[in-house]
Amino acid sequence: MENKKRVLSCIQPTGDMHFGNYFGAVKNWVALQEQYDCIYGVVDYHAITMPYTPKKLRENVWDLVINLMATGVEAKHLFIQSLVPEHAELSWIFNCFCSYGQLTRMTQFKDKSLQSKETSSDDFISSGLLTYPVLQAADILIYQADYVPVGKDQIQHLELTRNIAQRFNHQMGKEYFTMPEPLLTQIPKVMSPADPNRKMSKSAGEKHYINLFAEESRIRKQIRSAVTDTGETPEGKMSPGVENLFSMLQASGKKEEYDSLIADYHNGSLKYVDLKDATADGLVAISKTFRARKEELLADRKAVKNQIKASSMEIRKKAQETVRGAKEIAGLQNIKF
Ligand code: ADP
Repeated sequence: MENKKRVLSCIQPTGDMHFGNYFGAVKNWVALQEQYDCIYGVVDYHAITMPYTPKKLRENVWDLVINLMATGVEAKHLFIQSLVPEHAELSWIFNCFCSYGQLTRMTQFKDKSLQSKETSSDDFISSGLLTYPVLQAADILIYQADYVPVGKDQIQHLELTRNIAQRFNHQMGKEYFTMPEPLLTQIPKVMSPADPNRKMSKSAGEKHYINLFAEESRIRKQIRSAVTDTGETPEGKMSPGVENLFSMLQASGKKEEYDSLIADYHNGSLKYVDLKDATADGLVAISKTFRARKEELLADRKAVKNQIKASSMEIRKKAQETVRGAKEIAGLQNIKF
């Protein structure tokens, strides 16, 4: 029998995967697979809170699945959220155990509703944008997860999940839902090569992220033109652009190069071109391996789809068991089977 602690994490299918996503999240997913009982979701119900195109969403889901598998996430840990509809069912129950006021205070709601207003012509803000942290609580609690790997910006959401679990358990008079803990790991925040004061992100546009599966020439070009001096760095402090290059070099596992170049930096002999070449080498090496694996997976898309559908069905059994128990406790009806 498994007695590993369970880890749950999810990612939205929103297009290209970049080195920020890899160093900041997915690399950690791969590492955690050994030690924990991991469940990783491709959460398409979350991706419809903002305006979207159905065809593109479906493509993005499978693209993300293949990208994740190419980086080393094992198929058996992966599920697609809309193949486990119990997430939506539990989410409704949880809506009734979560206060409206708490949802309106979530910073991501404030940010995203502003973004939504700016990008759409009709001021439309879906209520899904307000309640998606409740769906997120369902994503976690439905698997009775012990840990959720989080960055600091996600702590507020995990708190909401814990509040919902507490309220349900308390009102129902039963310690039913496992209280999830944050799994805080040392993960780098990768910055944009074009503007090292902002996070590497797709939403800022193409020059602000380096695609994990990009051609070698494209990666080299982006690193070569990365901003190093922004002109505002105080004396004796590393500029954000240089710090970002060092951080990517370190994250790419090039320890010797990192140690030698950081020594150059400290004795004032660092040439930016050497730092850029080493960083590009590091990223290209990772990208090459992943691109090759991606090619193999793409050659047999059908097999990938079958694997993921099967793993989603396995994972769904756990979700069904939890929802069944929750409905029983909450006085709702279950079909006997
Ligand atoms: P994007 O901002 O490109 O849309 P997402 O918000 O979909 O990326 O992020 C997916 C995952 O990748 C999250 O776990 C997030 O914390 C992580 N992540 C995204 N960008 C970065 C970054 N620049 N540095 C570190 N981690 C990141």
